[in-house]
Amino acid sequence: MTREWFVMGVDLGSTTAKAVVVDQDGALRGADVVQMGAVSPAAVARAIAGALAAAGVPDDRIGRTISTGYGRKLVPGADRSFTEITCHARGAAALRPGVRLVIDIGGQDSKAILVDEDGLVDRFAMNDRCASGTGRFFDVLARALEVDIAAVGELALSGSGDLEVSSMCATFAETEVISLLAQGRSKADVAASVHRAVAARTLGLVAQVGRASPVVMTGGVAKNPAARHFVARALDRPLEFLDRPQIAGAYGAGLLARDEYLGQAGSPVDRDAVADEQAAAWASTGNRDCLDCNGVLEHPLPPGATALPIELSRHKG
Ligand code: ADP
Repeated sequence: MTREWFVMGVDLGSTTAKAVVVDQDGALRGADVVQMGAVSPAAVARAIAGALAAAGVPDDRIGRTISTGYGRKLVPGADRSFTEITCHARGAAALRPGVRLVIDIGGQDSKAILVDEDGLVDRFAMNDRCASGTGRFFDVLARALEVDIAAVGELALSGSGDLEVSSMCATFAETEVISLLAQGRSKADVAASVHRAVAARTLGLVAQVGRASPVVMTGGVAKNPAARHFVARALDRPLEFLDRPQIAGAYGAGLLARDEYLGQAGSPVDRDAVADEQAAAWASTGNRDCLDCNGVLEHPLPPGATALPIELSRHKG
């Protein structure tokens, strides 16, 4: 009898480290999410140990590990890395078969990923240069409202989102939130209005790749019920709920590790190299220092920046 084997997917993001153990059938066997102060190899080691413990699998049974996320090159023991775009698409397509649009909102960036009928990346657009429309924006809101990030969504759902929120910059938004509260606006109304405004930014991102259904949200912000509600309303279509959206990227990495372990990944094109090239091109298209923004963004992305279509090899897993 052959011994059962496992693989691992690790997503080292900007605020959290996520690790999952996937079995030989592609099923998720254990996962862990560790909150970080800053990108940290120690936190990722804790997430890896936590996922192994949750799965009840010793680390010598892990046949292959693939990393993803902002800090993917820092993951100890990773055999290979792929971008979050590839991994979120793969994870979302496994968690919700048939998905066509993935909206991934993490701690410091947001992405709209169009997925084809085979669950492969077709096009994507990303905002990684402005905190507006990212988890950080909600973190700033929660801090200004003095509520826990896990409670800010419920609070927003109890308010009305019709206040004008002019500042879409995280730096200025805190001041604006405090000023609205000082004018006697309720925390719930302020929270709802900020969520509505952020959803409009997400719509701008989606407009660059095109709308498609079914839609799912991945990343930590997908745990926020008001973020899901206002994004669905802005899109004018329902969002399908994923149980554990924050580990979608790590799960996608785990499934890619399984493909490779099984020898199914024989693609002539190194998909990560393609995506990295796109990301490098993207990084050189403008400033990251808010120099041309007074806190009121009229463009969904910096002027001149366009969606980055990415043609990936036709990879079946
Ligand atoms: P990254 O991969 O960049 O580290 P994540 O995908 O883990 O980011 O998302 C982090 C963001 O998710 C945080 O900035 C926060 O806004 C949001 N978030 C995390 N946990 C919760 C929660 N329980 N409820 C609502 N939002 C959450």
